Amino acid sequence: MSTYRELLQQVKSEIDEIGVPDAAELRESEPAVFVDVRDRNEWDEGHIPGAIHVPRGNLESRIEGAVPDRDARLVVYCASGARSAFAAKALEELGYENVSSLAGGFNEWKRNGFGFDLPRALDESKRRRYSRHLLIPEVGEEGQLRLLDSRILLIGAGGLGSPASLYLAAAGVGKLGIVDDDVVDDTNLQRQIVHSTERLGDSKAESAKQTIAALNPDVTVQVFQERLTSENVDRILGQGWDVIVDGADNFPTRYLLNDASVWHGIPVVHGSIFRFEGQTTVFKPKEGPCYRCLFPQPPPPELAPSCAEGGVLGVLPGIIGSLQANEALKLALGIGEPLVGRLLLFDALETQFTEISLRRDPDCPVCGDSPTITDYVDYVEFCAGPARQVTP
Ligand SMILES: [Zn+2]
Repeated sequence: MSTYRELLQQVKSEIDEIGVPDAAELRESEPAVFVDVRDRNEWDEGHIPGAIHVPRGNLESRIEGAVPDRDARLVVYCASGARSAFAAKALEELGYENVSSLAGGFNEWKRNGFGFDLPRALDESKRRRYSRHLLIPEVGEEGQLRLLDSRILLIGAGGLGSPASLYLAAAGVGKLGIVDDDVVDDTNLQRQIVHSTERLGDSKAESAKQTIAALNPDVTVQVFQERLTSENVDRILGQGWDVIVDGADNFPTRYLLNDASVWHGIPVVHGSIFRFEGQTTVFKPKEGPCYRCLFPQPPPPELAPSCAEGGVLGVLPGIIGSLQANEALKLALGIGEPLVGRLLLFDALETQFTEISLRRDPDCPVCGDSPTITDYVDYVEFCAGPARQVTP
């Protein structure tokens, strides 16, 4: 029986070892594949540029997939040169004929001042937090990194913005913007679940920011404690958002947001609710209709519906806002079929979904072929009851 040290010595005598300076030169002069056989967490902390990662434990099963050519020039490395010696031996037994183990490993590489890559990867705590995303092939680590890089703007932290912001934050959307100039009042709490009784009187945008911070510290929230106007819309939209979730409850904001999003080229996930009915669609500039394709102008004030507050079943915004979050996540990830040119209607009393197709209007005053509206219009606020629904 031999000790580990003796075994290592014996293996090293049977394989080829290459010193760091020679390996670095080899990297420059001829095509050599550097194979990192360390564990995942070691790889995540940095590796030789261009190396491939095949952990020692999976070496025999994965190397053929990674390097099918058995004549390829391979340099295997670990942290200090021990695991890679055994790995080189195993590769020779698998028929690889041109294998060297990097003497001193990655530690020696760094000590010699050679460069290394820090891969973009989720750290252990993020891998746990988002593990149920990582298990879905359509999301996976790459998708989760994409979400963490995503920027989504929410117009309104009310009924629709509450569930949308909570789910987007929980999903790990890295940056959320929240535009709302309102404060939390007691009539909100029947449905606006991002707020709470102890926040009565607080700014809604700040209240949502606090709830999100408690839910997921990976998310940065930018608060815009203002109402969207023609004065500030370019400043707010101009900060590089990937998607906008529209939870606005009035005509002026809806038209302003529509025109701005068309000009800024940002998709808007629209939602609206009234009593037991809700609807959602995605207005994606150039790919589908915009809000003005359906309603070129707001109705004149005298035709606007009554000023009485419209009631709503408390859970309804939860359903529609969650659908909006679903569309926003799909757009951020670039997966699935977003509701572009499709209006989804939900009837909570009947528990029925209906879909209506919507078409882009080539004569649309904003996104049409010869636009007639080219500057922001501040419409006077007027009452918006049932007619705030998109009814084509
Ligand atoms: Zn349009």
